[in-house]
Amino acid sequence: MGGTIRLFKFSGIQVYLHFTWFLAAAYFLTQRANPYSSPIWAAYEYLALFAIVLVHEFGHALACRQTGGTANQIVLWPLGGIAFVNPPRRPGAMLWSIAAGPLVNVVLVPVLWAIAMSLPDPDTVGPAFLDWYLLIQNIWWINLLLLIFNLLPVYPLDGGQILRALLWFPLGEIRSLQIASVVGLIGGGALALLALLRLSFWLGLLAAFILSQAFTGWRYAKALVKEEEANRQARLVPTVPQSERDS
Ligand SMILES: [Zn+2]
Repeated sequence: MGGTIRLFKFSGIQVYLHFTWFLAAAYFLTQRANPYSSPIWAAYEYLALFAIVLVHEFGHALACRQTGGTANQIVLWPLGGIAFVNPPRRPGAMLWSIAAGPLVNVVLVPVLWAIAMSLPDPDTVGPAFLDWYLLIQNIWWINLLLLIFNLLPVYPLDGGQILRALLWFPLGEIRSLQIASVVGLIGGGALALLALLRLSFWLGLLAAFILSQAFTGWRYAKALVKEEEANRQARLVPTVPQSERDS
């Protein structure tokens, strides 16, 4: 947890904020063309983005605990959040722990829409309400885009992990991880190419993160193959008959 600040603890889950978040916030607030009447609204928007990320991560953590797994930490950093979830080694437990995150965003779609609809029409109440209106509208879009992005089937994004859990049912723990991590490597490579074409630092950072995590997944699958092999060997060791051992 180097370079992090403890924010708060909720239901036994400690939330940390990585210091790079402040760098990203400063970058975001200076770069974004401000559609609001005052820069403070862009700051609210950025805070709302992280509030959405936070409840998404709590979705993962609480679902993981429901399955009997452990989840005690959430770290917020510029690329979003990471809930350190460790569900039991079962496909169903894995599926629920991962799917619960995007499900939070699914629930937020109509909730944010209802909030936006409950606001008075800016044409009738005057420009004082315009910032509120714009903020809620932008938050609705941010939530939807986060949902769509997270559901890309590119491991380790949620969509990729859902794909892995679904493949686990018919193909087993190892094969499912092998396939998902290869898809992750291909997706990460495509994103890296896009980052190069668009000369985007953030896309590049995201691509590097996806590639490194997909590679870790691939290596973990390899380690699982070895573990299985060792278990098979252990079972194959012939047991010496009782009579021979006595002599
Ligand atoms: Zn997630």
